[in-house]
Amino acid sequence: MDLQLQNKVAIVTGGSKGIGLGIVQSLIAEGVKVANVNRSEAEGKALEAEYAKEGCECLFIQGDLTDTEACRIAVEKTLARFGRIDILVNNAGVNDGAGLNAGPAAFVESLKRNLIHYYAMAHYALDALKSSQGCIINIGSKVCETGQGGTSGYAASKGGINGLTREWAVELAGDGVRVNAVLPAETWTPLYEKCLAAMPDPEAARHEIEQLIPLGQRFTTIEEMADMVVFLASPRSSHTTGQIMFVDGGYTHLDRKCTALSNVTKFGAAAECKTGTK
Ligand code: NAP
Repeated sequence: MDLQLQNKVAIVTGGSKGIGLGIVQSLIAEGVKVANVNRSEAEGKALEAEYAKEGCECLFIQGDLTDTEACRIAVEKTLARFGRIDILVNNAGVNDGAGLNAGPAAFVESLKRNLIHYYAMAHYALDALKSSQGCIINIGSKVCETGQGGTSGYAASKGGINGLTREWAVELAGDGVRVNAVLPAETWTPLYEKCLAAMPDPEAARHEIEQLIPLGQRFTTIEEMADMVVFLASPRSSHTTGQIMFVDGGYTHLDRKCTALSNVTKFGAAAECKTGTK
């Protein structure tokens, strides 16, 4: 399938690592020119240099997205370099554990880390996106649907992101700008690996989580996340807007009674349904 993305221009927030890096790599593989807005300079610069050797554009823009001025500057620098913006991928975020006990100030800081810059980036890129009849893809999280406990700021931000996805899809439909969200549940990234490494038995912890993922009992890969983003960014999804896509191997929505094979056999689950016990 030709995704018709050659020479389009994308801004990706948090594109130096994890899911964002997967998105940057997949966009560039489709011929997109990318601006990567990230805090840490070393990784972004190295990525830029690596792609430059191959004749590809991966402009690094240093900035901490919790500062809305950094968002404005990122859009300005992207336009100065490439002259247009076709795709905005709001991706940067962190599950920072600002729970009910943390207090209002910590809650607001968490919204700054996870929600406010999604709005700021869309605001500053708005005119450019309208001119190009471009699109926005927001990366969310299953946490806004399932809850997690101890992470009010992150959960509220991710719920807000779903709300904004629908809101902006309505507001921008008349301008031909599409807006969609992609939600991971358990995606394998270096950060995830680092978190599990801090546990007494990382392999056992990984295995335990994997058993809860219906499709293949494995983590989602960053490439699988990126493939959905790239498809939504492309004109091949030209009539898709306001959608919230879960790329999670069925983790968020499927009935665990029927899918957690280690706990209940398929036959057992079916028998329960027939006798009406739930
Ligand atoms: P990650 O590996 O930590 O990568 C995030 C990237 O964003 C890093 O390069 C980080 O830079 C950058 N970043 C974060 N906050 C920033 C800020 N304020 N300013 C500039 N750059 C910033 O995270 P990930 O797991 O790929 O997560 C990406 C998105 O997916 C997030 O929105 C997250 O909530 C969502 N998500 C992930 C999972 C999962 O299983 N991995 C599950 C649910 C949702 P630094 O290196 O400087 O921190």
